[in-house]
Amino acid sequence: MKKWQIRAILLDVGGVLALGGNSKWKKGKFIPSGVHLNMAKKLKVSIDQYLDSIDTAYVYAITGKLSPKKVLEILSQNFGISSKKLKKFYLDSYKKNFKQNKKLFNKLFELKKQGYKIAVLSDQWFLSKEALMPEKLYKNFDELIVSCDVGVRKPNQKIYQLAVKKLNLSSKEILFIDNQKWNLEPAKKFGINVILFKSNKQLFKEKIWRNLFKK
Ligand SMILES: [Mg+2]
Repeated sequence: MKKWQIRAILLDVGGVLALGGNSKWKKGKFIPSGVHLNMAKKLKVSIDQYLDSIDTAYVYAITGKLSPKKVLEILSQNFGISSKKLKKFYLDSYKKNFKQNKKLFNKLFELKKQGYKIAVLSDQWFLSKEALMPEKLYKNFDELIVSCDVGVRKPNQKIYQLAVKKLNLSSKEILFIDNQKWNLEPAKKFGINVILFKSNKQLFKEKIWRNLFKK
């Protein structure tokens, strides 16, 4: 029987490589933090009003069904501000709400040196991609599979198939790390190894992760 070895690490961005942005519970009360709450505040509308206004345009933007120009046009019209200002609000909000997971990047570059492929499988629209995935951090990745570029998002199984194809490996040779359980399910079905990410501390303790460094 062939023993499969991990040869590529595939990672989510929001909540894994870029930490933060999540809503949380505090003393039993729901505290909606994050980019969209920040945006609602900046635009001086309620969060419900804000979510209603971005609705379809935002959903289409994630799979690149609307061009960046068109999305900004629609949203700036909905909010009554210029495209330029809206874009700046978004970029600032993403940067304010997320922090690059430097510790994890360092580990990945170490693994890359050891011969592993490193890649991204992420749902982004063009503005979150621009803010959260700077060229200087991602230029050494082997593959960047981002929903707004490939036209499909997680957990649609097509994006996992695409990842396997692009990495040019057997699914059993891939380790996928995501902070959402529902994004791991389709990967598991394809035979991809998975880890549910909660924190660096937890990830670095996982057996399958530790084994990567014992080559
Ligand atoms: Mg995520």
